[in-house]
Amino acid sequence: MRQIIALLLALVAIPTSAAGIATPPRPTRAAAPLKPRIVWDPIPFGNQRKQEMVAYVRRHYGSFMRPTWRLTDPQVIVIHYTDSPTFQSTWNTFASDTPDPELHELPGTCAHFVIDTTGTIYQLVSLTTMCRHTVGLNWTAIGIEHVGFSDAQVLGDQRQVTASLKLVYWLRCRFHIQIKNVIGHNESLSSPYHHEDVASLRNQTHSDFNHADMQVYRRRLRALGGCAGR
Ligand SMILES: [Zn+2]
Repeated sequence: MRQIIALLLALVAIPTSAAGIATPPRPTRAAAPLKPRIVWDPIPFGNQRKQEMVAYVRRHYGSFMRPTWRLTDPQVIVIHYTDSPTFQSTWNTFASDTPDPELHELPGTCAHFVIDTTGTIYQLVSLTTMCRHTVGLNWTAIGIEHVGFSDAQVLGDQRQVTASLKLVYWLRCRFHIQIKNVIGHNESLSSPYHHEDVASLRNQTHSDFNHADMQVYRRRLRALGGCAGR
């Protein structure tokens, strides 16, 4: 009986160091978010499209940066919905590299990620390549599209929004992007990173993911936790 009690006491004993001093509790730290499962399904982004992107950067951002197709040190994540019914239709539009119907410019529009209604995360473009998805912010923004027709539809689809939040949590920690810089397309004009050299486009934005809906999104993102070591 005494042996059993001794064993039980040993099992519950407070861990001590070799010197017999109680080990201080470790400071609690936010764990690094896990990378979610991402399906790599690239659109063609060859030399011609890269040169079209360089020319776009020269026209739209030439006053403050060297023309390039490379995305370096992104500071913003922009949330969109596709306004189209399927992942495949979105992929086809982004892959085509034809002038967009609204601004009639090249390269064609695209986004780095598209999240399907099933919750599957597709990556279409490397994170070191610029995509045209948000006027004024393409030079520094990662674009994330959601298959659907409204903010409410995406926010109400638990599989889709859960996948979206996991992806953005991982991305924002990887690139040290603040939660306030995870914005909806409709918030683009109020971003401190918004710069547009073409005067007629300085107030151009879209209606997808407005401020009220992004407050909901950012609250849920914040609830996932901070980034390790920060
Ligand atoms: Zn958009």
